[in-house]
Amino acid sequence: MTMPLNETHDAKMLSWVRSANDGKTDFPVQNLPYGVFRRAGSNEQLRLGIAIGDQILDLNKAHAQGVFAHLRNAQFDKAILGDSLNGLMDLGPTTWSTLRLTLSRALREDAAQQAALQNCLLEQSAAEYSMPARIGDYTDFYTSIHHATAVGKLFRPDNPLLPNYKWVPIGYHGRSSSIGVSGQQFHRPVGQTMPPAATEPVFGPAKRMDYEMEIGIFIGQGNALGDRISIQEAEQHVFGLCLLNDWSARDMQAWEYQPLGPFLAKNFASTISPWVVTLEALAPYRKAWTRDATDPQPLAYLESTDLRDSGAFDIELEVLLQTEKMRTDNVPPQRLSLSNFRHSYWTVSQLVTHHTVNGCNLRAGDFLGSGTQSGPLPEEAGSLLELTEGGKKPINLANGEQRVFIADGDSIIMRGWAQKNGMPRIGFGEVLGTLLPARAM
Ligand code: CA
Repeated sequence: MTMPLNETHDAKMLSWVRSANDGKTDFPVQNLPYGVFRRAGSNEQLRLGIAIGDQILDLNKAHAQGVFAHLRNAQFDKAILGDSLNGLMDLGPTTWSTLRLTLSRALREDAAQQAALQNCLLEQSAAEYSMPARIGDYTDFYTSIHHATAVGKLFRPDNPLLPNYKWVPIGYHGRSSSIGVSGQQFHRPVGQTMPPAATEPVFGPAKRMDYEMEIGIFIGQGNALGDRISIQEAEQHVFGLCLLNDWSARDMQAWEYQPLGPFLAKNFASTISPWVVTLEALAPYRKAWTRDATDPQPLAYLESTDLRDSGAFDIELEVLLQTEKMRTDNVPPQRLSLSNFRHSYWTVSQLVTHHTVNGCNLRAGDFLGSGTQSGPLPEEAGSLLELTEGGKKPINLANGEQRVFIADGDSIIMRGWAQKNGMPRIGFGEVLGTLLPARAM
């Protein structure tokens, strides 16, 4: 269902939190993304917060100030005072929308609640983040046809795009235990690889470490086992979107992926951004979803007029690299690519509907990855595998370093934002992760 715009999207609205009004922040009063935080280095209980400018509004403290008096009931209180977003996700779209309106009215300029909420703020620079939700199940899709074709060419030159691709949103069940929040550091994975022209695999640290620039989708209210979520209802089950780096060990992947798909090449770590941007916040930045007339059109259960009107999301996706040397020399991260989620061959509602079409149940806090978001141009590729053409074309960095794949000590940073004429820019913050050397074997 297409979401109508309302007063929370008003482009002229400013906040009494001044840093939300500078036109550069990811978090103007029109955004209001949710996260879970505490004071950095403290043992405080984790709490829910809203990003506003360079501050976090502590929802636990705001609750104590009576800001949510009209929303209160036992389930709502438990959700707001919890240490993850799962409870809020389970409350459903009507409550999400009322809460957004309440927060918008409390944070806008001249709000009566300003005095009460002034002491409920914490600077983002003084906070540490937790995973926004306890993720039960994680499924990763493969929705960029540009990525699927480019990678398919490298892995299977004679047969890049498998015949099911244009009919089925391809996905696999991933692993939630190793998903971490921005700031995650992990060791280079160790495992089996088959070197070129070898006859037996070798055991050791992966040599072809890569990232994948993806959108993460948090499920809100789930469905009962056996029930389907129709395409018309799908977005009512989506709480919001974040950024996802699906780290990948390409040499391990190439050896293990047939016949059942990714396994140890992917499940050692995945990193997400701390802030979850709601679909309501993204409503002004929707685009028509299209499918080339020469391609198969979706089967009826994956088709709707709303999808055609506004099923796609216009979200810019940037990947940057900061090597250890760049960090030491105080050199800012260097951009590797810029793409956009609007190029996705399948979009959010289709993924939710397809996932449940057989009666599979989703639960609040479940997580879907969009798959690597590569655009049509080579410089829009969402992984090093594509940018370096399978490791053949090194990237020359401005400081004289070169990269084919990720080196020990490198940090990968991803940013995302939406903007449109006449509307403020809203962003996702960033997701940063750092590769450490392999552990001694
Ligand atoms: Ca992936």
